[in-house]
Amino acid sequence: MAKPLVVITGASSGIGAATAQAFAADGHPLLLLARRLDRMEALGLPDAMCRKVDVRDREAVHRAVAEAEAAYGPTDCLFNNAGIARLADVTRQDPKEWDETIAININGVMNAVHAVMAGMIQRRHGTIVQMSSIAGRKVYPDHTVYCGTKYFVHGVSDSLRQHLAPHDVRVVVISPGVIETEVLDHVTDPKTLANYRANKVRIGGGISADHVAQSILFAYRMPQNVLIQEICITPTRQE
Ligand code: NDP
Repeated sequence: MAKPLVVITGASSGIGAATAQAFAADGHPLLLLARRLDRMEALGLPDAMCRKVDVRDREAVHRAVAEAEAAYGPTDCLFNNAGIARLADVTRQDPKEWDETIAININGVMNAVHAVMAGMIQRRHGTIVQMSSIAGRKVYPDHTVYCGTKYFVHGVSDSLRQHLAPHDVRVVVISPGVIETEVLDHVTDPKTLANYRANKVRIGGGISADHVAQSILFAYRMPQNVLIQEICITPTRQE
């Protein structure tokens, strides 16, 4: 039987790209969303509709989901992963970085939930995997606004779970620790970067995005009446 559609935001690199590869290997058709279309197309995955969409654009997210559902059928899984980490000392940080972080990590997350939620409720089937962070469970220096957005993901997801459980729709939160990706490529504060890198060396380095992808697939493949509410996945030495 054909496998159902999986929608992945932020699929052009890192954890999103690794998760796209894992779901494709499991035979799922995919809708991949991000701004770097070339990077998604370069993954070369079968049955993968790639669309250049900024998750801040609610209409564009809706349009892409509707187009993919017309081709592949209803969305059974959303991996709500797109996000940025502009880490810096908040007392010196340009507030434009706060705005960008909030718009992508909060509004972007809600836009993707909105695009799939009604269909899942109607079908009484579906799984929403929400990307948080270990920084959504405890605070770290120079993570102020980033932590705020990831605490938001936890709070919203706990509430969503209450609303969606009676419709048999699952909400999984994933909270990774240090993962080797491009996430810190845009950090502009050299002191913050140096501290982060020193901590990473101290804990023996980050872990691979593929390990995160495998944990998501594991949770998704559980029977629909089994919910892994949260996955916290970190390097072994990370506290
Ligand atoms: P990457 O920077 O490799 O991936 C981020 C992804 O998000 C990219 O595909 C990027 O695509 C996409 N993205 C960013 N902004 C937008 C936007 N406005 N619209 C659409 N897509 C967007 O880093 P990671 O894989 O590490 O990050 C993925 C998620 O994992 C993030 O939410 C991050 O906070 C979270 N995370 C990461 C950890 C880590 O240590 N790496 C730890 C804990 C959580 P593009 O730029 O092409 O639009």
